[in-house]
Amino acid sequence: MKKLTDFNYTHVLVLGLAKSGTAATKLLLANNKNVRVNDMKTSEDDAIVQELVSIGAEVVVGSHPLAVLADIEVIVKNPGISYENPIVLEAQNRNIPIITEIELAGRLVEESIIGITGSNGKTTTTTLTEKMLAASNQPVKVAGNIGTVATDVAGSLAKEEKLVLELSSFQLLGIEKFKPKIAVLLNIYEAHIDYHKTFDNYRNAKYALFKNQTSEDYLVYNADDSNVMDGVKYAKSKKVPFSVNRKCEDGAWIDDENIYFKDEKIMNRKSVVLVGTHNLENILAAVAAAKLSGASNKGIQEVLATFSGVKHRLQFVDKLNGRFFYNDSKATNILATQKALSSFHQPIILLAGGLDRGNEFTDLIPFLKNVKGLITFGETADKWKSLAEGIGIPVIKNASDVTSATLKAYQFSEEGDVILLSPACASWDQYRTFEERGDMFIQAVHTLM
Ligand code: ADP
Repeated sequence: MKKLTDFNYTHVLVLGLAKSGTAATKLLLANNKNVRVNDMKTSEDDAIVQELVSIGAEVVVGSHPLAVLADIEVIVKNPGISYENPIVLEAQNRNIPIITEIELAGRLVEESIIGITGSNGKTTTTTLTEKMLAASNQPVKVAGNIGTVATDVAGSLAKEEKLVLELSSFQLLGIEKFKPKIAVLLNIYEAHIDYHKTFDNYRNAKYALFKNQTSEDYLVYNADDSNVMDGVKYAKSKKVPFSVNRKCEDGAWIDDENIYFKDEKIMNRKSVVLVGTHNLENILAAVAAAKLSGASNKGIQEVLATFSGVKHRLQFVDKLNGRFFYNDSKATNILATQKALSSFHQPIILLAGGLDRGNEFTDLIPFLKNVKGLITFGETADKWKSLAEGIGIPVIKNASDVTSATLKAYQFSEEGDVILLSPACASWDQYRTFEERGDMFIQAVHTLM
């Protein structure tokens, strides 16, 4: 495992175990630090607690006593723990620095990091960037918010390997010196105000991505987003804009036919499998980051001509007798379903419904123009039905679940139709997760074949 550089603290409190806390503890112990771990939920006889104790950690579980702060010089906080937690508040009173595990990853491999954040599109852009580099024979790994722990991956990264990190605002709040060689800021929408309290705090957390960058580093940013632009103007890095609306001589852009990076044509848009303007933004961001890291046009073309989307995010599933099936089970709110519906010019049969959170779906009405059929399921089925009747959608059917909805959609579909699962609701009334719901759809599509 690599050594932490430039980390001069000796007594460290790891607050919150989970995967990232466990990895941070092991890394710190391997670097001869004194590590105390405090976790609310884990119990003393938990295997992971025993393992950490056996390698030298002091572990306090079941509560958050202030006594765990004794002698502590720095806290590595799990991003899920609120800044209003009494220990965190007290640590702030005592001016103890609070970092997240991402900061440690930065101390392992600074020069290799491509860091990607934004309110939406992080996973898609991270995945695209990684694939474009891999297809260009550039050694690369992914980690962070996408699921693998950053320090775990960074700790064993080979010298020539790049690390594409998906970063959330919660992770970025806890950085001190962390800086990606290439930063990518996709967009900033109102989100997570419960955690950040104000929109300004949230924007500042996103801007932290590039606050330590110097003129040696790059910042890829969405030139169409005013919230992004407000922060980018203070960046010291080399600026590389992308835009779906205008030509960017020093960045990534499109015209009606092609995708470009600076003055170079990358590929014809007709060959791109991903649909939706929002995905074009993700594509341009990934193209810019990949080109700056040495990706080839051939590698980028290969990926864009084959990549059908991250699973459950407007993912192209298959084509059957001229019908195109898309799985957007991750669309658990109205905004996401609006994006999905705006992505198609063809007639759509929409599969929608799920957990009732008390929302009305009227904000979707302007987006339902191409919808020729609606198949509803779950708790919100009746709400959808009355909405669809109100605006005269020709065919409205109810189904017991996603599997039967898929069959009903297919039965009345015609060649050229898009059959889209984009439920605008959480899945928990009928499925454990949106992933399970999406898997049911994929399975139902394949049963039709
Ligand atoms: P994240 O990792 O940030 O949650 P994903 O790539 O998983 O983002 O996409 C989740 C959903 O966010 C998509 O299904 C789509 O509805 C929406 N989305 C994706 N990219 C963008 C974008 N660039 N702008 C706005 N919305 C987007």
